[in-house]
Amino acid sequence: PSEKKLGAYIRPDIESLPAYVPGARPPAGVTMTKLSSNENPADPAPAVVDAVHRAASQINRYPDLYATNLTDAIAEHWKLTPENVAVGNGSVALLSHALTALAVMGDDVVYPWRSFEAYPIIAQAAGATSIQVPLREDASHDLAAMAAAVTERTRAVIVCNPNNPTGNLITRGELMDFIETIPPTVAVFVDEAYQEYVEDAECSFDLSELANYPNVLVFRTFSKAYGLAGLRVGYCLGDPRLIAAVRSTSTPFGVNAIAQAAAQVALGEQEVMRRQVKEAIEERERVVTELREAGWRIPPTSGNFFYLPLREHAAKLAAAGLDEGVLIRGYAGDGVRVTIGTAAENDRLLEFLAAREPNSS
Ligand code: PMP
Repeated sequence: PSEKKLGAYIRPDIESLPAYVPGARPPAGVTMTKLSSNENPADPAPAVVDAVHRAASQINRYPDLYATNLTDAIAEHWKLTPENVAVGNGSVALLSHALTALAVMGDDVVYPWRSFEAYPIIAQAAGATSIQVPLREDASHDLAAMAAAVTERTRAVIVCNPNNPTGNLITRGELMDFIETIPPTVAVFVDEAYQEYVEDAECSFDLSELANYPNVLVFRTFSKAYGLAGLRVGYCLGDPRLIAAVRSTSTPFGVNAIAQAAAQVALGEQEVMRRQVKEAIEERERVVTELREAGWRIPPTSGNFFYLPLREHAAKLAAAGLDEGVLIRGYAGDGVRVTIGTAAENDRLLEFLAAREPNSS
């Protein structure tokens, strides 16, 4: 009977996994300004909303298993073939599928830290051991230390460019040099969730070199600059062999019909995306300049967010934000990440921070 009470056996490493974001509820009755998830605050383009409505009338049917139209459109956008493209239920799902295809229990995954909070979770879920390489003092990737951390057990190295949550950027030259130093049997994941905020339609990895780097996968998302976070759709680009491996570990029908239709239209609306990116960058510069003038330390950022490296004050500032209705992402003992919202939301944030001592809580 006692065994019955315990229930099913669960892998101990999974039972001890921390939550993606520790649950925190704002006090009742407080209106929230949500600047905690790096979303695009702009309304979706009318053509995208129309595509959602059209696709909605077909939801009694399964979606296209291979997301053929969206895959073709992404391939054409990047001047690649459909065999170079896998789409998924957000780029985080693709990162997870790719690791599952590469690593078994006892293998390593190397990535910078602090970085995207899903990396330790997907590594552990795949059974792999996380090798976290600390960022340098200026919050940039320590690429030399990351290359040095690769062993014969390493199956993948993740580069986050620009890095979430610090915002720092690796240039194409630095990235290509780094990839050269990684053994070809080790996959390099280039997570470019925020790359549209850096250069329109550019890619930090030189895609014309893809044939020479069959170990590289570039991850992109429709959740940020394209403004489709609620639909969950992302993609990865790479050599057909690696792409086939990602597809074979993916859950069937992972990208729903509405997401497929909307993402295809959003990709065609490049002008809308560029305009929204430009607005976000202008707002970011306004906010960051004002805060720096007030004495806040903020590392250079290339995303739709910025970072306050507050160390021991981080958790307190995030908690104060929650109490006052300004939702920002705190990383205890490390820093606070703030997403750029609408002008009004950013004003609310500035007001909240103006009432505090810079660089403390
Ligand atoms: N990579 C990075 C660096 C991110 O910050 C995020 C979202 N927070 C993702 C990937 C995942 O994006 P999505 O699953 O929405 O495509």
